[in-house]
Amino acid sequence: MPACIFCDETKLTKEDLVPLWLLRLLGGERRFTVRTVRGGELFGPDQWRARTQQREGGNHKARIVCRGCNGGWMSQIETDASDILSSAIRYPLIPRSFNRTHQIALANWIFLRALTLDAGKEKDNSTFLDRPCFTSFRNSVTRTPPANSVYTWLGLLPPASRLRIEARVRDSLASRGRGGFQVGNILIGQIVFQILIVRDLGKVSFDFSEIVKPWRRNVIRLWPSPKRSVEWPPRPLEDLGAFMFRFGL
Ligand SMILES: [Zn+2]
Repeated sequence: MPACIFCDETKLTKEDLVPLWLLRLLGGERRFTVRTVRGGELFGPDQWRARTQQREGGNHKARIVCRGCNGGWMSQIETDASDILSSAIRYPLIPRSFNRTHQIALANWIFLRALTLDAGKEKDNSTFLDRPCFTSFRNSVTRTPPANSVYTWLGLLPPASRLRIEARVRDSLASRGRGGFQVGNILIGQIVFQILIVRDLGKVSFDFSEIVKPWRRNVIRLWPSPKRSVEWPPRPLEDLGAFMFRFGL
């Protein structure tokens, strides 16, 4: 019997892959697209588009978590993030600063979204991340993403005609003793979260500081938390495709 992805409980409830507060904010927008590609390192950007799997429509729920997790600590993460995010989504151009508390709340939220999207995939039970990654997030005292293998940025997109949400995920699975990467981009209106997750850190030799540098003015880093407040908005991203592909996975 499958257990909750975060604990041993086998009585499961349906988790909203897109939280209800966010759907409400998007004006009842029910369409949610998830594009996932595995083994992205094999393909260039063009092939990547061709190989994506897309799902759209009403598949917002997945029976992957228990009531205790869903209504407890997960709900707290949603509340903490929605307080900050709601205003930023609605008024993306208004200058604001994100202090360390905000950075942690947003990093937790995007990491939780990455975990639930990973586990909630249709027709695919394999997850990019292994179970200890899920359980240790729930059990950690600080309840923050692992700071040595999770990186999160926030960017600003050009104005869109309507508020919408879309997830674009690429991962390069660990194989032949090598580590793996997953890059998730969650587009919400004019805001884009980017999360880079490295699996089996010890097996990966990858210095991405050079790859990150050219984009520094286009993003603010949320995690690992820069130990100061960061100022929003950054310079808008003109080439979303290049941004999503910047790690070349
Ligand atoms: Zn649970």
